Amino acid sequence: MGRFSGLLGRFLDYTAYDTMSLPQLAGRRRPTSEGQERLLLRLLSELQEAGIDAVYGSEKVVMGRLPGNAGSRTVGFMAHVDTADDVPGNGVKARVWDDYDGSDIELGGITIKADENPDLALYRGGTVITGDGTTLLGADDKAGAAIIMEVISYLASHPEIPHPEIEVFFTPDEETGSGMDSFPFGWMRSSCCYTLDGGREGEVETECFNAASAVIRIHGDATHFGSGRGRMHNAVTAAAAMISALPQAESPEATDGSYGYFCADGIEGSVAETSFTIHLRDFEAEGLERRKAAVRAIAEAVSLAYHVRIDADIQDQYRNMGEASFRDPFPSEAIVRAAGKLGFPVSFGKVRGGTDGARLAERGIPSPNLYTGGHCFHSLSEWIALEAMERSAELMLAIIQEWAR
Ligand SMILES: [Zn+2]
Repeated sequence: MGRFSGLLGRFLDYTAYDTMSLPQLAGRRRPTSEGQERLLLRLLSELQEAGIDAVYGSEKVVMGRLPGNAGSRTVGFMAHVDTADDVPGNGVKARVWDDYDGSDIELGGITIKADENPDLALYRGGTVITGDGTTLLGADDKAGAAIIMEVISYLASHPEIPHPEIEVFFTPDEETGSGMDSFPFGWMRSSCCYTLDGGREGEVETECFNAASAVIRIHGDATHFGSGRGRMHNAVTAAAAMISALPQAESPEATDGSYGYFCADGIEGSVAETSFTIHLRDFEAEGLERRKAAVRAIAEAVSLAYHVRIDADIQDQYRNMGEASFRDPFPSEAIVRAAGKLGFPVSFGKVRGGTDGARLAERGIPSPNLYTGGHCFHSLSEWIALEAMERSAELMLAIIQEWAR
């Protein structure tokens, strides 16, 4: 039994809560599902039972704070309690595959194939956890919640271990994009807040996209088609012209890694009026500005060429959390040093999307995303190895040691 012997039991208990979030209620009810509140209240009482100062208020975020005995800066850790609704997420019956033999995992109806999941081989002889084939597992992000709870409880019962002041945050509704909408920034003292919401063992993410959306409304002139010459101005044709003017080499289908994109979406309309959205993504802030300028210029050109009025409403959505890390490299350096001492390989990557951490980074709080070890998130084939979770917990503890110096 290692020092995180409670990790498996905690994780399995959390997966039994029905915490699937409901995007259609985002912004109207918080949390969007009752099970999330039940799990949040349980996390609150676990913190209190461990002797950690914890609060849960109208923001529906559980916050815990453990006073420090070393170091001068407060460091935070965050996980979300909701699960995605891409596949059924309630009624999870986790299955534990002890002494996993490396073969395909048969779950009534579906199979997690060893050759499609080469990382499974890393955990041969270990403990793999899955759902029962009818739901997701919910390692995204209950693995993160279990790891954070296990490590902070361990520190609370081992006062001889040096650590700075530590804050933990458990949030609802991350999957709906509204998790940070009423985040209690006023309460927070952390100068950095790691999220434990990553996947594959060894992968750490310090950057995400800069994102904006352009809502395009094209106003044409409808006439009887038979007498359209010189009088009809077709908003549908103008929309097609705008969309074909977007560089196809910079679409989601044609890009990966560090490349950003334009993506047309949600088109609807008629000759008289057609609207659609263009999603703009770029890891560089200047790159996002170029994309916005390109959309404005294309709208202007198409408006002149097709005699239509075009409104382009361009709004920023989130910023690359890497900007905060460039200003304060210590949080990333702490990961490298901690992993180096443990002999764990880590690689730094970029999230081709947004994270709750981006909302912290907007306020200058670096928020690197640490791995939990989970795979195949948001699917019936979701799986995680206990050994990966344990190493994620060891890494979190070692990062805390770096902050204690
Ligand atoms: Zn997540």
